[in-house]
Amino acid sequence: MRSLCSLLFLFVAVLSVAQTATSNSSPSSEFPKEIPSFDLSAIDKTIDPCVDFYQYSCGNWMKNNPIPADKSSWGRFYELRERNIYILHDILEQAQASSKHDAIEQKVGDYYAACMDETVVEKRGTEPLASTMSAIAAVKTKPELISQVGAMQRDGINTLFTFGQMPDMHDSRATIANLDQGGLTLPDRDYYIKDDAKSVETRQKYLQHVQKMLELIGDKPDAAAAEAKTVLAVETGLAKSSMDRTARRDPKTRDHIMETAEAVTLAPNFELAEYFVNSGAPKFTNLNVSNPDFFKEVNQQLSSTSLDDWKTYLRWRALDTYAPILPKAFVDEDFQFNGVYMSGQKEIETRWKRCVKSTDQNLGMALGQLYVDKTFGPEGKARTLKMVQAIEAAMHQDIGQLTWMSDTTKQKAYEKLNAIVNNIGYPDKWRDYSTVVVKRDDYAGNVNRASAFEVQRQLNKIDKPTDKKDWGMTPPTVNAYYRANMNDINFPAGILQPPFYGKTMDDAVNYGAIGVVIGHELTHGFDDQGRKYDADGNLKDWWTPEDAKAFEERASCTADEYSGFVAVKDDKGEVKLNGRLTLGENTADNGGLKLAYIALTNIIGNTPVKPIDGYTPQQRFFIAYGQIWCQNVTDQRARQLAIIDSHSPGRWRVNGVVQNSAAFEEAFGCKAGQPMVSKNACRVW
Ligand SMILES: [Zn+2]
Repeated sequence: MRSLCSLLFLFVAVLSVAQTATSNSSPSSEFPKEIPSFDLSAIDKTIDPCVDFYQYSCGNWMKNNPIPADKSSWGRFYELRERNIYILHDILEQAQASSKHDAIEQKVGDYYAACMDETVVEKRGTEPLASTMSAIAAVKTKPELISQVGAMQRDGINTLFTFGQMPDMHDSRATIANLDQGGLTLPDRDYYIKDDAKSVETRQKYLQHVQKMLELIGDKPDAAAAEAKTVLAVETGLAKSSMDRTARRDPKTRDHIMETAEAVTLAPNFELAEYFVNSGAPKFTNLNVSNPDFFKEVNQQLSSTSLDDWKTYLRWRALDTYAPILPKAFVDEDFQFNGVYMSGQKEIETRWKRCVKSTDQNLGMALGQLYVDKTFGPEGKARTLKMVQAIEAAMHQDIGQLTWMSDTTKQKAYEKLNAIVNNIGYPDKWRDYSTVVVKRDDYAGNVNRASAFEVQRQLNKIDKPTDKKDWGMTPPTVNAYYRANMNDINFPAGILQPPFYGKTMDDAVNYGAIGVVIGHELTHGFDDQGRKYDADGNLKDWWTPEDAKAFEERASCTADEYSGFVAVKDDKGEVKLNGRLTLGENTADNGGLKLAYIALTNIIGNTPVKPIDGYTPQQRFFIAYGQIWCQNVTDQRARQLAIIDSHSPGRWRVNGVVQNSAAFEEAFGCKAGQPMVSKNACRVW
């Protein structure tokens, strides 16, 4: 399963196409301009940087950049995402036009064209769902129910639990099968379990939404209302049996390798012996069960809940997953709940943006190849690698200076640092989609076949040597990640441009932006999760007990610090950050800034550098960092992120970090007692 520490929240859906749209217009004239790396006009000079540095760096940006109606949040890296969408749009518009194309252009062009053809989508109605719905209706026994669950999972419909692959936590060279909790519709178990007013309201709205959707496929209102209650009851059972996000951060809680026979005995009602045979996976004898308690408890629910109720739940999971690729009525109702109510988004995105995202999601490594040809090239790779090496050298230096870590543990830390693999821009080998059939008049079928292809591609990895070259994000993605079990850092081409990296910018600005991103990913190898894995990506304790204790004390300082920050305050009350859920990201932000600053100091040395725009290089470094995180977020989305996102909101990614930084204090001449100078500065790395 996915185990990846990203720079930004990553929305992953299997079959869906984010949010959908209606307009056919393709306003290329709106093509967004390149985003400035260092934006003087974003700064609010009426604010003292030592009082609120985020407000200082971003105050005017926030004032002048309200959230667009078709978004639930907006920030400077969202601007870059939007710009990439326009670049991809141009690529796809050309690819779908009738002229001579290579096979890749043909495939992504046809996929995009089919998505844009709303007339065909409307005409087909709910026919794309028909075979799944009749298969569910035909289920007569509990074993047949499980085999239907398996069939739906192979089509990319997340239902009841998840089955996939992961590198063996104790021998990352091998990939093994993995069973895990799953099957929820709402974004987290908390939505089903918590009793605060907002959670209760969300469940009421969810019931109404499920009912409306079921009415759209022809169920009578009374029946649909009863079915919605059944869906909520079944999912609440799954939620109560699920482990919470914060507990899952500790890999030990997910480490349960067993023989297949043991898994079968653990939860006999899951009929796992037969399930494995039909799963599409190669034959295997050992697997990991991430959360055995989930399977034990749901095993009971499988017998205590009626077959009809389970079938109602499956119908809902199919309908919910297909909603974005069905006709407008379904798309609109799906958006009303997930977009308007859950995220505070006012309008749906235009259809072409949705279709671009769908192509990226389902044929992303093919579209990414065209994107890289157009925007990146080998020189981009070389430039970034140079910065990565400078920051790795800074980390080496930083570890050497630590006063709380013994030489024994330091040697192991160097070993791990030296083993980190740097992946930049795009994969060495492009994914082969030649077996995915794409038809110009069958959008739902295309999505379905591409989803099934991806499920199968993942299952094929089971019991094979781990493919460390397989990327977890597509090249146009504006994000970056570290994988503990691969011990690699990864920077897709999409993020290697302004405002993160500007070819003509001074080092101070580039190190404050992409430099900190690189440092952030490196630090993930040594955060509360990453430190538990060794140089080979295996779960192995390489710390002396004293050093581990010193680390935990320092990490607790960061966790407590961020737990005091307010994520959102609205008429529904105040939500504070979960300092333990966000600990790894906050550690990476603090460490990343430190490392990039050391690297910058190594470059500029003691030679005085002339101020630019009235700012010293040190000040430019911090402002560039602050401005990466300029953002506006709806209250609804902020609430959602406080529950599901392991990253802190922009304000705290900036103020939380500079409060702990002596270099910041020095750069802006801040004094003890000012808000941006923490009395009790936390420092892990
Ligand atoms: Zn991160």
